[in-house]
Amino acid sequence: MPLLEKYSKLFQKGDIVLIKPNLLSARKPDQGVTTHPAVVETVLKFLISLGTKPFVGDSPAAGVFQRVISESGIADVCRKLGIPTVELDDPIVVDGQVYKKIKISSKVFEADKVVNLAKLKTHSQMILTLGVKNTFGCIPGLEKSGWHIRCGTNENFASLLVDVHLLVKPVLTILDGVLGMEGNGPANGKLKNFGVLAVCENAFALDHAICERLSVQPQVVFTVKESLRRNLVPVYEIDGNWHSTIELPVTAQTLPVAKPLKRLARSIVRVPRIAKRRCVQCRICEERCPAQAIEVSEYRIDYDKCIRCYVCHEVCPQNAIDLIRRFL
Ligand code: SF4
Ligand code: SF4
Repeated sequence: MPLLEKYSKLFQKGDIVLIKPNLLSARKPDQGVTTHPAVVETVLKFLISLGTKPFVGDSPAAGVFQRVISESGIADVCRKLGIPTVELDDPIVVDGQVYKKIKISSKVFEADKVVNLAKLKTHSQMILTLGVKNTFGCIPGLEKSGWHIRCGTNENFASLLVDVHLLVKPVLTILDGVLGMEGNGPANGKLKNFGVLAVCENAFALDHAICERLSVQPQVVFTVKESLRRNLVPVYEIDGNWHSTIELPVTAQTLPVAKPLKRLARSIVRVPRIAKRRCVQCRICEERCPAQAIEVSEYRIDYDKCIRCYVCHEVCPQNAIDLIRRFL
């Protein structure tokens, strides 16, 4: 709580405040996928003490909202404190700086303020998922998948994420990096105890600072690269001495490559492959694949259609999608 007190002035008595955790899919708190309920509880108590009216909302990438929030432990916290939980549905159409006609839940705009409760994890497509990426959950349900096709490249998708973040405009971002994830996140990586909670009014600064403190080149993380390109990262100072390391996903291209090998390196990509022994044929990947490239009954992925968004890897509840090397 003392960490939050300096941000009291951001809120006024009676403010309706949307708390936007990371509720990616139905996972338990000790799986490091969703924002920990203890973090949500602390923030809710802080907001209640200021006389605001908070509610908790998100639109999961996979699964039914009520089940996802129950599994995360956040529903219990909300019940205990008498806080409403709301699925971020019912979209309205708004224009971003780069992308037009973005459908964002009207419930985001009904709130006076948004508090962004992100998670420190790797992300097979964006490399890290931190504060800026977390507001993508304000786009309802399957509408999210369509953006992968519309954007086409990782750079364009990062640009959309920055647009969405600027539209949602959280007044505060809190990053839960106590128990996070490294390797092939954001759902099926390896648990890592980073032992950090980071708080900032500006998520662009926060994400940049986290990269620095993890010794990750900011340009490697697509959303950070895009926010630097748009001059959105202000000059900032960091309080605290926390440093750590992180194993990046296999999809990250971080090593400098000698010139003659550059073309070769570019032609080797990571593609998803269904691991038959682990797959339970739930078909979630098939439903969520924006390119309709998956035929689960045949364990088949059409690599001519696949755009390598890794949504299938992200939503698979069985960790049954491997990311294998393939020559283009
Ligand atoms: S690969 Fe995963 S998400 Fe796809 S059908 Fe199998 S278990 Fe379900
Ligand atoms: S198969 Fe997986 S990586 Fe390829 S387009 Fe579909 S969801 Fe994206």
